[in-house]
Amino acid sequence: MIQAPVPHNEPVLSYAPGTPERAALRAELETYQAEALPLWISGEAIRTSQELSFSSPHDHQRALGTASLAGEAEIGQAIEAAKRAKPGWAALSQADRASVFLRAAELLSGPWRQKVNAATLLGQSKTAHQAEIDSACELIDFLRFNAHYADKLAEDQPTSDPGLWNRLEQRPLDGFIYAITPFNFTAIAGNLPSAPALMGNTVIWKPSPNAMLAAHRVMQLFNEAGLPPGVINLVNGDAVAITTQVLAAPEFAGLHYTGSTAVFRSLWAQIATNLPQYQSYPRIVGETGGKDFIFAHPSADVRQLAVAIVRGGYEFQGQKCSAASRVYVPRSLWPELKQILEETIAQIKVGDPADFSNFMGAVISAQSFEKISKYQALGKGDPKVRCVAGGGGNREVGYFVEPTLFELDDPKHRLMQEEIFGPVVTLWVYEDARVDEALGLVDSTSGYALTGAVFARDRQAIVDAARRLRFAAGNFYINDKPTGAVVGQQPFGGSRLSGTNDKAGSAQNLARWVSPRTVKETLNPPLDWRYPYMG
Ligand code: NAD
Repeated sequence: MIQAPVPHNEPVLSYAPGTPERAALRAELETYQAEALPLWISGEAIRTSQELSFSSPHDHQRALGTASLAGEAEIGQAIEAAKRAKPGWAALSQADRASVFLRAAELLSGPWRQKVNAATLLGQSKTAHQAEIDSACELIDFLRFNAHYADKLAEDQPTSDPGLWNRLEQRPLDGFIYAITPFNFTAIAGNLPSAPALMGNTVIWKPSPNAMLAAHRVMQLFNEAGLPPGVINLVNGDAVAITTQVLAAPEFAGLHYTGSTAVFRSLWAQIATNLPQYQSYPRIVGETGGKDFIFAHPSADVRQLAVAIVRGGYEFQGQKCSAASRVYVPRSLWPELKQILEETIAQIKVGDPADFSNFMGAVISAQSFEKISKYQALGKGDPKVRCVAGGGGNREVGYFVEPTLFELDDPKHRLMQEEIFGPVVTLWVYEDARVDEALGLVDSTSGYALTGAVFARDRQAIVDAARRLRFAAGNFYINDKPTGAVVGQQPFGGSRLSGTNDKAGSAQNLARWVSPRTVKETLNPPLDWRYPYMG
């Protein structure tokens, strides 16, 4: 069988002073000029009269461009384009489809790297490092590893009794796929439409209005790599209007979604309501919110713990579904940990990520700034909550929020339960003798179950926590921060309110985008209708 090359994770470039990647990213940032982003339907750039302007989250004055918005007519065209492109694309061999995406990975690893990284830095306020691990490395990994996992799926064949040949054929789903993507990862934005496409499906892709520039770059990259017209059709515009029209099509065959839990639930409900009009049972894959924990055992190393809280909680302004946002610390470790955290957080610089000395940029939007500010106010206004660090923000130049740490008396406080999606970490101190009770609270306090970490040097404590928290996280970390999953190494996804846990960048995810056909061929069919027992 023809197989894609065995993938390796894309090396993360350092952007240290004097490196070529630092100079190349700078050059890309300095030469960027505002763009008018089109829709991409059937391989064509479509412009409409309805436009939305957008600017950098860290600099309102920095106009990044405008985006054409789809109306009813364009959404209809996108649906038709996906339907038209389907037979030709589905008839290509797996190797031919994989080649397109492997070429995209190669371009992204080389000449397109800084174009996509710069779009992510400017449009989503990621630092050079955060953009690199997302829009370059993770997207390259998705593209290369998926090609490899698609081969693995095809390899899995049934057994055959003598005289028979049984085969399993991986067909795309019968219809088109709808991909709805979040703002916070360019890699996820690229993966949600491309993973089903790799398996022979055609796709309508609705990016986040807060990440349109990076989505546009990724679409240009796919086009440059030779993606045939109509395989992925990108439409920006009103989320509800687009979704209502797309989900009403009888050929809708699958949803590939990442975003908040509330939106996912509403999408599932709409699909259920529309069920009688579909020609098949649509597949629903959704990776959603998190309230990710770090649990420290009394045997934990305090410095390691502090680094995990700072990196896990504040990188990319806490806007990761996997961000460490609730922490459980034994009383014996708290005084030392508190001191280290106060000192460390005081050193964090927040500002324009084009200034490489900044550790944090801005949060994504005014709406997000307001939501996070309300949670900060909730903490500051509660006498049973102590603000250890931060607590403020400033939205004059950009949407900047201070890295914030709250210590709470009530382990069931709203701040310990709800996804804030900003640089706000909440922490509860438990009595050393009550580890078991604290583990129970980790498991039961929030409805989410995405990521979580345990810090301990005592092996038995690690074993106990891993057993006790078996269903509390789909990605469980031992002595590491709960963020930064790498494709091929830590397949990513969670359960409970955090999603369907189909593990992005794995064979398990790709299996959702195919509908296998079993073929039984009898090599020498019988000529007598009677069975021997009848003799
Ligand atoms: P969001 O829910 O605001 O938006 C996600 C997408 O849904 C966007 O494209 C948006 O335009 C669209 N959308 C919004 N309302 C809609 C509606 N009524 N109908 C149809 N589409 C609609 O989320 P976001 O702010 O872009 O991303 C942050 C969220 O995503 C967080 O909750 C985070 O935890 C989650 N997330 C989860 C994972 C994961 O793997 N579990 C990864 C990244 C982000």
